Amino acid sequence: MRSAETAKPNLLGMPRGRLEDFFAARGEPAFRAVQIMKWIHRRGVIDFAAMTDLSLRLRANLRETAEVLIPECVAEQVSSDGTVKWLLRLDDKNAIETVFIPEPGRGTLCVSSQVGCALDCTFCSTARQGFNRNLRAAEIIAQLWFARQVLRSRFGSQTNVTNVVLMGMGEPLLNFDNVVDAMRLMLDDHAYGLGKRKVTLSTSGVVPALDRLKDTIDVSLAVSLHAPEDELRTQLVPLNRKYPIAELLAVCRRYIAGKERKVVVTFEYVMLDAVNDSEFHAQQLAQLLRGIPAKINLIPFNPFPGSEYRRSSPAAIDRFRTVLQTHGLVTVTRRTRGEDIDAACGQLAGRVQDRSHRQQHFVRLKARRGREAIA
Ligand code: SAH
Repeated sequence: MRSAETAKPNLLGMPRGRLEDFFAARGEPAFRAVQIMKWIHRRGVIDFAAMTDLSLRLRANLRETAEVLIPECVAEQVSSDGTVKWLLRLDDKNAIETVFIPEPGRGTLCVSSQVGCALDCTFCSTARQGFNRNLRAAEIIAQLWFARQVLRSRFGSQTNVTNVVLMGMGEPLLNFDNVVDAMRLMLDDHAYGLGKRKVTLSTSGVVPALDRLKDTIDVSLAVSLHAPEDELRTQLVPLNRKYPIAELLAVCRRYIAGKERKVVVTFEYVMLDAVNDSEFHAQQLAQLLRGIPAKINLIPFNPFPGSEYRRSSPAAIDRFRTVLQTHGLVTVTRRTRGEDIDAACGQLAGRVQDRSHRQQHFVRLKARRGREAIA
């Protein structure tokens, strides 16, 4: 994909309204938007010349004035459990990772929203890469376009993406507009037609953006909670200093109240041995979530080179889950997938250019922790 500075707009990332404006500016009727969306997203056709229900004149005009650009896949890894990870190269030498997780009767695509991540969650490998830039809407939806094409060519209609989770690299709510545009395409019947329960945005809790999200688009919400009290959560998710738990849960309540349909917020909780996994933590968590329609997703910690945590034992995870269930909370333990190819939660790293700033920060952080350990 070429850079945004290119003279030609990339139609891949434009939701319907944007395409209608694009065609209106060319004196074309609004329904051209739907026609072109069907070509690009449903049929996977990106060559204007092949779009046979557009006039020859319009096709020629599009070739001159617009483009549909897809990032190049530079590596594919397939896990022993069938999980597939693709490394997609962007136009600026950065690369992002996208993961497809097949399960009986469904297929989940884990999509990245940023190159690297600006948050510094201490248990996540993407944090170590530092932050480079936001993905454009085209680069976000390209991950779904690409996965669909590959799966279709390999397996026909048998295997497909039925669910999308924005749980890849990055914090989606810090790239709000592009993420919303891409999600509009995911939901649009003329593009991917996924139901709102099948598109899940996961956030570490950017409170003002959550308020904006609730008024902008209707998708499922997952919140990375990871701890039942502020001191511990700040250690794990430094963003908690800015938006502490009480504010985060208040916005979750507003999110739920603002929906006409029945919604449940998923709370993600990474299971870290001897850090946040005691029965006491589970009791605290159950108290905290009282009265919120919630589902809890326990994620066994996935280690990565240099990580300082250990995964909780299966017995500890079971005990934790049982306490929550006793309090009537729907709790599931996320099955770890794609671990052998570093495709599991928190293991995505991609290739991030110009990470010097964050590397320095990380080195400083390590030095500070080291000093604290000695003191
Ligand atoms: N920034 C967003 C989305 C990306 S992470 C967010 O924080 O929600 C997707 C999920 O994987 C989050 O719940 C994240 O906390 C979790 N995760 C990150 N690193 C992990 C690791 N090493 N092991 C297990 N889960 C991890």
